[in-house]
Amino acid sequence: MKPMRVRFAPSPTGHLHVGNARTALFNWLLARGSGGTFILRIEDTDAERSTAVSEASILEDLRWLGLDWDEGPDAGGPHGPYRQSERLQLYLSYARDLMSRGLAYYCFCSPDQLEQERKAAFAANLPPKYSGRCRALVPDEAQQRVTSGEAAAIRFAVPADRDVAFHDIVRGEVTFSTAVIGDPVILRSDGRPAYNFAVVVDDALMEVTCVIRGEDHISNTPRQVLLYEALGFEPPQFAHLSLVMGPDHAPLSKRHGATSVAEFRAGGVLPESLVNYLALLGWSPGEGQEMLPIDEMARRFDLAKVSHSAAVFDTDKLAWMNRHYLKDAVPARIVDMAMPAFQAAGYVTADVAGARDYVESLLPMALGSVDRVDEVVARVAFVFGWSADRAAELVKAEADGPRVIVALAEELAGQEPLTRESFRAAATRVKDKTGCKGRLLFHPIRVALTGEESGPELDLAVPAIDRGAGLPTAAGVPPIPSCAARARAVAEKVQG
Ligand code: GLU
Repeated sequence: MKPMRVRFAPSPTGHLHVGNARTALFNWLLARGSGGTFILRIEDTDAERSTAVSEASILEDLRWLGLDWDEGPDAGGPHGPYRQSERLQLYLSYARDLMSRGLAYYCFCSPDQLEQERKAAFAANLPPKYSGRCRALVPDEAQQRVTSGEAAAIRFAVPADRDVAFHDIVRGEVTFSTAVIGDPVILRSDGRPAYNFAVVVDDALMEVTCVIRGEDHISNTPRQVLLYEALGFEPPQFAHLSLVMGPDHAPLSKRHGATSVAEFRAGGVLPESLVNYLALLGWSPGEGQEMLPIDEMARRFDLAKVSHSAAVFDTDKLAWMNRHYLKDAVPARIVDMAMPAFQAAGYVTADVAGARDYVESLLPMALGSVDRVDEVVARVAFVFGWSADRAAELVKAEADGPRVIVALAEELAGQEPLTRESFRAAATRVKDKTGCKGRLLFHPIRVALTGEESGPELDLAVPAIDRGAGLPTAAGVPPIPSCAARARAVAEKVQG
């Protein structure tokens, strides 16, 4: 058996969509699980829409996901170049080869003529299909017109009335009749190849053994199979993945929310969560397991077990998965990811060791109850963004609030920094003094010290505030009032 070679072939016309990321992932899983080769090829022949910026962002997103490639535009390899725009000579030579064998021909039809044909077909309720007008031209005369400077595209002559069949690993047997396939342009008059032609030349020359891509390309495949035949290449295996849908079963698009890897990344989703989640779109590792490291998924991956039914992208499930991966992640890594948001909020003024250590010490309060890294900041905002006015307002809204906080301020005087134990002891003394217990005791304390109605356990929150209050200026964290200071300020306001 030939060694497995698969490829991911993005067009650099925008960000990497999660549907395409899943295609890349399934290719990667198959290559890594079988000791095969994963190729990255950039399909940039659409000069108007392709950009270097988009290519760079796709490469960056793939790297971030951990989907490394063995051959590609930057990595090189024995079958390069790996950018289609650098392979134009190859397409030209294969197109000429087809012409020399009578399997392709020059087409001089103008865009206007083609548009009229399309309209006529539409009006007659027929599928739009090239009429084949230029197929009848005498080759020598056509060649003369080209030599004298007339612009011409090259079309492939599709054999008449034949069934083209191929086996799709995901979808089974697929058959199309050539009666519905018009002669496709393979090379435009400006020398750029059409997708269907470039993809065949490239997949054949790059010795790709299995083409895994989105189902939107299934109707292209019969044209490609015919081109393989005409060029004398053996076709690869095909596997067309069902499209990734939104909850309403329409293809996942902007109106469903985030669609690109970059957006999920910016929103604090970890790469291991996204990769794990994407792997489950149409495939299951089995044994009731869902959360698996990528290498283990590669060992278990089996293309034949990929489902052909539509895969619905479930943001809640991704959030659930991310919550679990966040809990398991190395804290320093979460700090790296969260630091810019802490700085943007003004909670940290310099990315220095003191600030990092302090932020890291706050993580246990947040992780477990957030789905994304960017939510960590809001979860611990009470430490940095506390306001005496807001806290006093909330205390006043509680029946025994003012009484409890005045007592608390007395009990906390001189008690800095509070630990979990010294806080509990102080709360017990407030209880004895006021006769308030349970929610009547702890809710006023919570709103006074945090300025929020809900949040992490006070046992964790109180020592965290006081650790912050004790930080030196060099720690890069603006001054944080201690719990004692907070209680005192609120007591003054609610008494006054
Ligand atoms: N450039 C094509 C796309 O992004 C690749 C299709 C294929 O894999 O053949 O849709």
